[in-house]
Amino acid sequence: MILQSEYKIFISPIGNVDLEVIKPVSREINSIFGYQTDVLPLLEDVNFALDPARNQYHSTQILEKLAGLALPQTIKVVAITDVDLFIPILTHVYGEAQLGGKACIISTYRLNEGISPTSFTETYCFRVVKEAIHELGHTFKLRHCPDHTCIMHYCRTVEDVDRKSDQLCRYCSVLLEDEKNRLAVK
Ligand SMILES: [Zn+2]
Ligand SMILES: [Zn+2]
Repeated sequence: MILQSEYKIFISPIGNVDLEVIKPVSREINSIFGYQTDVLPLLEDVNFALDPARNQYHSTQILEKLAGLALPQTIKVVAITDVDLFIPILTHVYGEAQLGGKACIISTYRLNEGISPTSFTETYCFRVVKEAIHELGHTFKLRHCPDHTCIMHYCRTVEDVDRKSDQLCRYCSVLLEDEKNRLAVK
């Protein structure tokens, strides 16, 4: 039996992920979703998901594996990888989530594009934070939001990512609260 207060959102770095990035991700997850976080590497590598023809990694396969490895006290798990991810219908993805499921993943591979050296760390960390919150939002059943400042807005480019805030709009906040309440009474 796991107490409600023991449920956590796990951050699962895969391979080379800088602690500098994980810290702000952890802080924002805690602030937006209200769960405690913990850092726990669940996968050493994602070679099992490599598509040799594309030289990219199929994120859906990684999500299935992660969901299977998650500890019982996992409310959600967000993996962070530095390899390039894809799903078959798209050239690449910044991340993928199981809608209403346990696992999501983000890739830092393309998040360093077009940043001026003076603001590199700040902009880069902010992008990683936004992508992590966005994908976790999907695991809490949030869908893409038409409000272009909302963190659940769909982004095609890093410029889009930079344009949106790291917060949920009022509408998505209400939906998140509903879902959290639903999870809490289970
Ligand atoms: Zn999305
Ligand atoms: Zn929204």
